[in-house]
Amino acid sequence: MNFIIFGPPGSGKGTYASRICPKLGIVHVATGDIFRSIVKGSGSCRTSRNDSLAGELKSYMDKGALVPDELVIKLLKEELAKPEAKNGIILDGFPRTVKQAEELENIIKIDAILNINADQGIMIEKISSRRTCDNCGEIYNIADINREINGIRYIMPPMLPKVAGICDKCGGKLIQRADAKEEVVRDRLEIYNQQSAPVLEYFKGKIPFIEIFANEPPDIVAEKALADIKKRFLQI
Ligand code: AMP
Repeated sequence: MNFIIFGPPGSGKGTYASRICPKLGIVHVATGDIFRSIVKGSGSCRTSRNDSLAGELKSYMDKGALVPDELVIKLLKEELAKPEAKNGIILDGFPRTVKQAEELENIIKIDAILNINADQGIMIEKISSRRTCDNCGEIYNIADINREINGIRYIMPPMLPKVAGICDKCGGKLIQRADAKEEVVRDRLEIYNQQSAPVLEYFKGKIPFIEIFANEPPDIVAEKALADIKKRFLQI
């Protein structure tokens, strides 16, 4: 099974995908993570090609701008050619433009879109409160949200490390990513509304949608999404 997890920046795509994938025995393929690992120099072996690629990717990512379609598609194809991807994937962060959506149809067959519905104000707060491990990429969140907007109660407790500022998994330092700063988050949402939201329209009627409502703690949201996937695709 191949899925796309789709939603605005900060809606928790990575958080949900990393909980759902192991339960289905499929892999989480996140273009943002692929790019960050190249930037960090830990992607493939260090070569001058990688160094210039890393510099190019970083210049887009730090501003919250989109990496050009041709480059994203080339790097994604390399990732999907790996044997681990053959059992199924949740694609996170791709497609982000209609051009990427069109290209995807030539690369892999998608069974459904996991579409995250979330309030944009809450997302700005969540993403700018996100802290990421500088070493292993584990994500934490210091925002404690419990309020009602348009009749929907959002209950999103913080995801704190055991020791403030230190990653539970590897002891790395927790940082605020450059693209999690509030002004950059607002720019990313603007880009999402203009360039990525049309991707949903593109897929409507072509691929089944599974709606995810991101107004509860991640474990509960992921559990509900998983139940829905199993019911609709595995008949269990
Ligand atoms: P993410 O972790 O998905 O928020 O991605 C971080 C950054 O990587 C984005 O702000 C973009 O600069 C870049 N990026 C990730 N995926 C794509 C994509 N499909 N198309 C263009 N840029 C991307």
